[in-house]
Amino acid sequence: MDNKHAFTRSVFDEFLNQFTLSETTLVAYWRSTHRRYLARPHGTSIIPFCAEETFRMAFYSFQRVHRLETDMHCPECLGESDVVICDGCVVAFEKRRLTGRLRPPTMPDEGSEVKEAVQLLSLATLSDTSLSVSKKEAADFRTSLDDWAARAKKHLIKLSLVKDDLDLVAKNGKLGKAIQKLVEEVAALHPLEQGDQRAMHLKFLQELAARSAIFFLIHPQDFKLVAQFVQSRTEVEALRKRAPLFHLLSTAEPLRPVYTVVGLLLLHARQLWKQLVANLRQSRPLSPDELELVSEHDFKGHAWQTTGAIYPDSPVRSRPLYKRIPGDAGMKRLKNLPVIDATRNSDECNKLYSTYGKNGLTGGMMGLWCPHGVCIGAHLMSSAEGRDEVFSALFTRRKKAPNIVIYDFSCQLGPYCWIRAPEYFAETRFYVDQLHSYNHTDCAKSAQWASAVRADPDLKRINTSLAETAHATLRRIKKSISYMLEMHAILFLWVSIQLFNRRKLRKMGHRDRHFPSEIDV
Ligand SMILES: [Zn+2]
Ligand SMILES: [Zn+2]
Repeated sequence: MDNKHAFTRSVFDEFLNQFTLSETTLVAYWRSTHRRYLARPHGTSIIPFCAEETFRMAFYSFQRVHRLETDMHCPECLGESDVVICDGCVVAFEKRRLTGRLRPPTMPDEGSEVKEAVQLLSLATLSDTSLSVSKKEAADFRTSLDDWAARAKKHLIKLSLVKDDLDLVAKNGKLGKAIQKLVEEVAALHPLEQGDQRAMHLKFLQELAARSAIFFLIHPQDFKLVAQFVQSRTEVEALRKRAPLFHLLSTAEPLRPVYTVVGLLLLHARQLWKQLVANLRQSRPLSPDELELVSEHDFKGHAWQTTGAIYPDSPVRSRPLYKRIPGDAGMKRLKNLPVIDATRNSDECNKLYSTYGKNGLTGGMMGLWCPHGVCIGAHLMSSAEGRDEVFSALFTRRKKAPNIVIYDFSCQLGPYCWIRAPEYFAETRFYVDQLHSYNHTDCAKSAQWASAVRADPDLKRINTSLAETAHATLRRIKKSISYMLEMHAILFLWVSIQLFNRRKLRKMGHRDRHFPSEIDV
């Protein structure tokens, strides 16, 4: 290594084996090896094992020359994966060890544009604008409609529960009137003789009342098919397969007001989408002051070893700045101000974001995985920043947005992405993964993976929990990384991801000549 010490490769391979199978830290491994050297039978030549610091330096130097890297593209996915599973993980180091050189995809750079008209809009299905009432009245109406449908499911129908709210919204607009008519017709259905039809309509009403974006129900890509559904008043096969709401509506005969409600919602969804796209048009390059600030933090061309952004390709776009969105990180990151994802609308699902950083530690890592379990990108975060991590990773690193994004907080990630980059995410469907769905009691079933699979059973092949499995492996390095310097934490994470990917690729039959067969992780 330094013309004084020589190491066999097996001493490092053995450590790689141990830290990926158990929570062995570098110090623990050094100590046990050191003791083994000391415990050699009396009389054999004793060469003491090197000092801890020497071993540490040698290990990191070896990893720098060791050809461990995978290209982080899945050969089965052929190019960019259509389906991306995202998850954060508590792999963090001490904040006091931050050097200021981490550069996650959330950071703007000199190519960033300032989007001047993009702003927060309520994307809720039953919102103040779709119902033409005040925000509070819309929220009260959603609650009482949901409540009424839940009671009706238990045969405790009291139409009066929702009556006052219904009268109010019906007075103010067509959508309220159509919903009022639908509720009255559903209430008149016989609980036993028309049980299936009744159950379907109650679920439909609860989908409308859910705290979710309208695009989970009527996706921008489906506008034409939904129009066909409304006009023909018959089931549209392609729509049933790709849109959980329309799969639900295919399980029994919809009552006539359903078509009116869907037609009015389609109108509202189209207007909203038009507005989102129009807001995107007004943009400007960074001002000289902003450019100056950005250039201090610009690490363009720097490798993952310093930026902590472990992606197969260089960025394809810059992360824009959204000046009209209160709390949007943008320049705050450059000024080292705390960034908290607090821009959630009150009409979005209540499930709070997990934060992957704990006391005194950095924000953990965000990882992207293909449906075959290959890690296709990951980055370390200086602080936990919520949905921006996924938004920016996809927007800046992928030419085309995935068709499906699976994430614990997809119900809130969807609106986040559609508001900020509607054209880029126009074809993307966001789903909450199966494992975390039970926590989402407020949002639409249409945003949950189980509903997507019910609509299209072919999707069953995708294991939405595989990021969790991967993270169970990565969590083994949690303890080691928590004590490390930034550069060593990045390297350790990189090694773990490459080893993880190699195991996946080998299982898929893609052997690699650089991979030492004795290491199994
Ligand atoms: Zn794949
Ligand atoms: Zn939710």
